[in-house]
Amino acid sequence: MMIDLRSDTFTKPSPAMLEAMLKAAVGDDVFREDLAVNQLESYAAALFGMESALFCPSGTMTNQIAIKCHTQPGNEVICEKLSHVYNYEGGGIAFNSGCQVRALEGNLGRLTASQVLEAINPDDVHKAPTALVCVENTANRGGGSCYEIADLEEIRTICLNNNIKYHLDGARIWNAMIAKGESPKQYGNLFDSISICLSKGLGAPVGSLLLGGETYINNARRVRKILGGGMRQAGYLAAAGMFALEHNIDRLKVDHDHATMLGNVLKNKDFVGEIYPIETNIIIFEVKGTYSAQSFSVFLKKHNILCIPISANQVRMVTHLDVSAAMVNELIGIIEKM
Ligand SMILES: *Cc1c(COP(=O)(O)O)cnc(C)c1O
Repeated sequence: MMIDLRSDTFTKPSPAMLEAMLKAAVGDDVFREDLAVNQLESYAAALFGMESALFCPSGTMTNQIAIKCHTQPGNEVICEKLSHVYNYEGGGIAFNSGCQVRALEGNLGRLTASQVLEAINPDDVHKAPTALVCVENTANRGGGSCYEIADLEEIRTICLNNNIKYHLDGARIWNAMIAKGESPKQYGNLFDSISICLSKGLGAPVGSLLLGGETYINNARRVRKILGGGMRQAGYLAAAGMFALEHNIDRLKVDHDHATMLGNVLKNKDFVGEIYPIETNIIIFEVKGTYSAQSFSVFLKKHNILCIPISANQVRMVTHLDVSAAMVNELIGIIEKM
């Protein structure tokens, strides 16, 4: 059997999740008649202490709708250089919102308040009005790094003082909350909008939610329709998301422990260079000497283990609910012999 560490998006629905999907009470969600979608949206909004939520097919869509609803064409969006919204959404900020990006170089994918403050454009006809700050938690290309809530609060204050909106790409917010012992309401208090993914570590096959105020989400619903994201009997998918929220959050600790175990084995190997601090379920490490990132990945593939070379000399592994303790031990055995 393959041990797939390429991403936590490779999880497949469990039999129990599939059963929950089969039992979903569905209707036409464009007409707001899908009970399972309505239930998921109100459950998630309440969890974060926010007014409303919108179920979407992907995290790219929730991020892109969020940005569109906070900005006007010609505005500037501040984010980190390696962030998903800037690097992995196909130029969507320009395509969908007509905005330009001020990409800042942070620390493992994280921005600081002073960096944000410095990047805000003055009220000057030459300058694009700064409309939005997007932060990512956990930061994917930062190796699953987590913000301190205090640092997010400081950025919040800067945004408030400068009349700038504040969006969280929380694709892996559950991992951050488990690692730091935080609650969803702490995040709901801070942000104008939050995007959360159900199809990463939580194991749902499809789906993300955009959270925000009622008026904002009403507008987001219109944009979702424009983008073709108005789905009909989406409740079958929402039921999977609901199952994920109810059953698969607490166990993320197991994934984090597995990632730490793998990191501890990797750090003693002479072909491994810098390993990013392992805070959650993502391991990004430098490969040197005997192996390139490519040849390392090819070697593991011969042992039925999949990982991703993310640059010429860096490999990424992601633990998730379809990676069992036995699989982790098997991989550790293989790495130890390399
Ligand atoms: C996966 C991911 C998303 C959303 O991706 P989709 O594949 O469109 O659901 C957004 N942000 C981050 C940081 C991600 O890792």
